[in-house]
Amino acid sequence: MNFKSKFGFGCMRLPKMDENDPSKINQDLFNQMVDIYMKKGFNYFDTSYAYHNGASEIAIRKAVVERYPRESYLICDKMPTWALTSPEDNDKFVNEMLKRLGIDYFDVFFVHNINIPWLKLARKCNTFEYVKKMKDDGIAKKIGFSFHEKADLLKEVLDEYGDILDIVQLELNYLDWEDPLIEAHKCYDLCVEHGLDVYVMEPLKGGVIVNPSDEIKNEFKQFNPNKSIASFAIRFCASLEHVKIVLSGMSNMEDLIDNCNTYENFEVLSDEEHEFLEKMAKKLKDNVAVACSECGYCIDACPEMIPIPEYFHLYNTSKNQPESNIYRLYFDKLADEKVPADECTYCGTCIDYCTQKIDIPDMLEEVCEHFQNGFSPYG
Ligand code: SF4
Ligand code: SF4
Repeated sequence: MNFKSKFGFGCMRLPKMDENDPSKINQDLFNQMVDIYMKKGFNYFDTSYAYHNGASEIAIRKAVVERYPRESYLICDKMPTWALTSPEDNDKFVNEMLKRLGIDYFDVFFVHNINIPWLKLARKCNTFEYVKKMKDDGIAKKIGFSFHEKADLLKEVLDEYGDILDIVQLELNYLDWEDPLIEAHKCYDLCVEHGLDVYVMEPLKGGVIVNPSDEIKNEFKQFNPNKSIASFAIRFCASLEHVKIVLSGMSNMEDLIDNCNTYENFEVLSDEEHEFLEKMAKKLKDNVAVACSECGYCIDACPEMIPIPEYFHLYNTSKNQPESNIYRLYFDKLADEKVPADECTYCGTCIDYCTQKIDIPDMLEEVCEHFQNGFSPYG
């Protein structure tokens, strides 16, 4: 099996010039990363209308489309399902995406993030039928949808549209594999039953897997000092037979090189390694205060515009390094610059959009209590 063809460059978390402005991509660094990735024989770029507020597609045009022959790379883009208001919008968005990317066809095209509210919009706007026509007309070579929900909803979508599709892009990693809230294993099996390929997103669960406590880091080191924590997670996904692409969202050169090494020297995960990862999954779950993958879908849903994943990120890091005062300072700085976490009105709008099924308002309250009251930097 050709494992090298499974390494997809996820363009949702590209290197930035300004940490507070997602649209300011560090184009020079991205170009250098693309050159190394392509030179080593990898060729798949995954983006969406929404990533980096639209700047991800433009950055790909500059780094890839304008610098490499069209047949040397593959591009996947995604319809902004949440923004659809009428069937005419399908055309409008697709034309805009083609223009931003500077291409005249997509190698892969997905309906982005099918959940209950957005499935309704896709049905209302005939988006699956539209995407099928894109394939018939040669505007998209392969089609499917991306999905973060549980198996029941996946079955409903596949029963309705599975026959016209090629791929489902699933959230899949060794933490979520048997997690009853995510059901990654069940979802994978359903795709296989329907004869569809699986593309994987969030193999590191938005960084949760690679930023554990020092104790867990040491256990990985003892188990195998020559392999990075990320490489185990990637090999878990890419070793699955029906997984054809595993996306890695890379924002620095170090991660790119590590991932290239994983695929250039690919080893299928052994039984012993499977057992080890099962053990580590249990420990990681006990260790992570809030399992936020930092996907960002809740932010647009929140009428108060609370930067929810940023607060959850600080909470997790602070819990892992309780002796450090620095996270308390970051929490105060974040609340000064953006909307404070305690401005949550408990309206509950965000909950339906959370890809990790987190009770966001309750968790925000816990975060506030941690930083404002109970958290002592000195234990
Ligand atoms: S419950 Fe809180 S965080 Fe969620 S959408 Fe409402 S105000 Fe925003
Ligand atoms: S809270 Fe949920 S929706 Fe928001 S970024 Fe985290 S995982 Fe994504």
